Amino acid sequence: MTGTISDPNVRERIVSWEQDTCKDLAPRFREMMLSRARVAHLKGFKSFFEYRSQFKMMNTTSVDLFLKDLKSKIDRYANAFMESAIEQKMNDLGYDFTIKNLRERLRRGKTIRDYQNNHPEAQINWGDYSYYTTLKSKFISKSKQSEDLKFHEYFPMDHSMRRVLSIFGDLLGLTFHESPPGDQRRQVPIATYLRSQNLTEHNTALDVFWVFDITGITPKRLGSLILDVGEREGKPRKVFCTTFGTFLFENEISRLLPGVAIVGPFIKPTSRSPFVFNHQGLSTFAHELAHAIHRLVQGGNKPFITGPRDFVEIPSITAEKWTSNPVVLQRISCHYTYLEQEYLTAWKDGFSPKIPPPQPPRQAPLEMFNEIHYKKCQLDITCLSPLVLAVPDGD
Ligand SMILES: [Zn+2]
Repeated sequence: MTGTISDPNVRERIVSWEQDTCKDLAPRFREMMLSRARVAHLKGFKSFFEYRSQFKMMNTTSVDLFLKDLKSKIDRYANAFMESAIEQKMNDLGYDFTIKNLRERLRRGKTIRDYQNNHPEAQINWGDYSYYTTLKSKFISKSKQSEDLKFHEYFPMDHSMRRVLSIFGDLLGLTFHESPPGDQRRQVPIATYLRSQNLTEHNTALDVFWVFDITGITPKRLGSLILDVGEREGKPRKVFCTTFGTFLFENEISRLLPGVAIVGPFIKPTSRSPFVFNHQGLSTFAHELAHAIHRLVQGGNKPFITGPRDFVEIPSITAEKWTSNPVVLQRISCHYTYLEQEYLTAWKDGFSPKIPPPQPPRQAPLEMFNEIHYKKCQLDITCLSPLVLAVPDGD
């Protein structure tokens, strides 16, 4: 909400109100933190973080080095952003203020931070941070609206999901074999999935895939992936990945295989147009698919919750970033009018008077994605800043 409040004084009041909301809990929170440290000391560790590190893939030293390295790399960008935020805030408060003038006025050895300590109005609280970040991203994506309209025409959902599966397969040495509705074998994972969701029957089509690791001499069946992306009453309104259990796959050798599903509240296509992804939807799908693959390659006998979880988001965030790369986006894209004759007819009928322009190209032009690419790169710097301020605490 603070991202939309232009008056710095109103933001200030909201920030202090929010910070005081749980004032009563502060002593208990402090007690909890101290108890955690005491437990760690009793076990012979320097800090709670060091104690927790034994269950992680990264130890205290490597986390420290990582944060220092990250800080040195983004310092320049973070400082430039903070300086422009101070300048804008001071101007919004009616001061005739520039960072350049301030630098000239500062006494030898004094920094901008010293100035902020003596002038609370020049301090950037989290409300200011979110307001000026929002302002910056709006400026970057000012013509995004029109881009988005074109964007989703090129990303019909069923087609895009299968293209993403195929690209991930090429990159990771996997294949996703779709099990058609008539295939008897798909009943086992479907029944397991429905039981896990407390559903007795389903009226939406589930897409079932068998996932194989093809890096060895013979393909190795890893498990089953279900895409449950149709509309259903009572379905959660978010996209997520869930391990729904394991089932026995009877073949030459019977094996216990994991079943993973990506669940989403997407709506069914109509005869006039298919359901389409916007950019956010496509990146979320790629993110969740990476979680699904991560779980499938861990195998059926190892529950997902065991083992270090530090890096669980890294493959998913990498996958999400791929969907901001124009070349990858172009490979996924296909204008929906190429999928069915009915879609093309309906698209033509949408023009009035009835003289449609030539059918758009099958794949999206690369220029269409320039802005998405640029916007994502810019936001990364502001997204990384909080990480640099992080103090490793163990959880
Ligand atoms: Zn995630």
